[in-house]
Amino acid sequence: MRHSDEFIRRRLLARSEVDGTTGCRMWRRATRGGYGRLWDGERVADAHRLAHEVFIGPIPAGLDVLHECDRPGCIEPEHLWCGTVAENMADRDAKGRNGGFKNAGRSHEGVRGSAHPRSKLTEDEVRIVKPRLLSGRVKVSALARDLGVSPSLLFGIRSGRNWGWV
Ligand SMILES: [Zn+2]
Repeated sequence: MRHSDEFIRRRLLARSEVDGTTGCRMWRRATRGGYGRLWDGERVADAHRLAHEVFIGPIPAGLDVLHECDRPGCIEPEHLWCGTVAENMADRDAKGRNGGFKNAGRSHEGVRGSAHPRSKLTEDEVRIVKPRLLSGRVKVSALARDLGVSPSLLFGIRSGRNWGWV
């Protein structure tokens, strides 16, 4: 039987700590693909998804839990929201986080992932999209069109050339 929400809340709080700089509540234990993992009494679940369920409410069918702060290990309810990858991207565009190539001209050595100015996807987005690509059930060109990214970016994710550590 699944543990009570109260029990899961206590576990989540006990296994994470607040980062005073960002306000993120970061998972302290081992992660899988950057996400915290916790036994909920029935199965091992993603800690950020559990955090959404017990602190905010159920996750609507078909939606993913995304990070406002773009840190997969964060379980701070204030930083979590439900949506689709396309919505997440639109949200970022609206905020201008993805525009402007602020760092153009500087060295990008050692910078990877969403901190890289040429990246068009966040880590959350890659983690959600990658299994779909690997399943072979989606057409890369159609997905690229939906997301507004180049097919080559998605081919690179599928082959492991881009985002291979995710
Ligand atoms: Zn956070």
